[in-house]
Amino acid sequence: MTMPLPPGSTIGILGGGQLGRMLALAAARLGLKSAIYSDVPGPAFDVVARSVTGAYEDTGAISAFARSVDVVTYEFENVPLAAAAAAENEAPVRPGAKALAVSQDRFDEKSFLRALSLPVAPFALVESEAHFAGAIAACGERAILKTRRLGYDGKGQARISKATELAGAFDAIKRAPSVLEGFINFEYEVSVLVVRGLNGEKRFYDCPLNTHKSGILDTSTVPSPLPPHHVARAREIGATIADALGYVGLLAVEMFYMGEGSTEPLVVNEMAPRVHNSGHWTMDACLCSQFENHVRAVAGWPLGPTERHSDVVMTNLIGDDVHAWRELSAEHGTALHLYGKAEARPGRKMGHVNRIRARG
Ligand code: AMP
Repeated sequence: MTMPLPPGSTIGILGGGQLGRMLALAAARLGLKSAIYSDVPGPAFDVVARSVTGAYEDTGAISAFARSVDVVTYEFENVPLAAAAAAENEAPVRPGAKALAVSQDRFDEKSFLRALSLPVAPFALVESEAHFAGAIAACGERAILKTRRLGYDGKGQARISKATELAGAFDAIKRAPSVLEGFINFEYEVSVLVVRGLNGEKRFYDCPLNTHKSGILDTSTVPSPLPPHHVARAREIGATIADALGYVGLLAVEMFYMGEGSTEPLVVNEMAPRVHNSGHWTMDACLCSQFENHVRAVAGWPLGPTERHSDVVMTNLIGDDVHAWRELSAEHGTALHLYGKAEARPGRKMGHVNRIRARG
């Protein structure tokens, strides 16, 4: 049995964004230090004593970074596999390279999920015109074309409602290797937040109901209306994925809820091998947030409680929304989190608020 890293140990975080920042803040509360490695300085740099700016392709620099810390984790899923491998030679990398490999590519991710017999939308590879007819046959005419790699927050996607629109959609995403996905007529979207410890223990947060604006997460509300037996199914799906990956840390799985009478009530949209925006509500509505539990897991500590003591609505502050910080900071029952980003560009996540109410 591996010993937990004692307070004073250092967590190395690949990625310097707001997720890294909130991980480092949670680690600090447990007496753990964090060091950040990122290709560009970001919000996480402001809260740690040591940060390194370097390319993710610079495996020499990644190795040196990993040698200087006690465990390596990451806050984004597009860490190059060569970087993860270089780090792994020097220190444990948790959640692990397999989780990265699977979630970096939509086709591989969906194939992995299907191999686990988990429900996903019909999908097919689209890499050239030669694939158009087969993809439409597999997915139907109402569908979404998504790039295999590097798509997020609805970027790198084009919707179609007729087979003849596929050529235009393929051009719109610059003919990048893609996956066509059948359009899912869901009732609403939820996510599963599961944390898996070094010893394989799993704990679950409540499933938030998630709404989006322009493809970007807008709100996460807990409790969600998801019926208890479907919550159980959602958790089972999250557990299956976490176990299959030998996962250590916080895993988020986004799902479509199809409604009470459906034969397949939950369809997996995508997974994130990291802390997730739809779990930010845990910072103020739980004793132990998703960030702290991720830190605990990768440091080999016992997992913390995932129970929720309050009802909560998390709302993202996107772009100009952040200019309301003064009013939000005075709002009763509201916890304000700002990421310290200088420029409020459209579509940029600048912070979030958690509006807390007594548990109903
Ligand atoms: P994604 O980047 O894959 O998470 O997609 C962003 C958002 O687009 C999702 O949160 C859904 O609201 C919507 N979406 C994605 N895939 C589908 C689908 N197959 N059917 C219907 N809506 C989808």
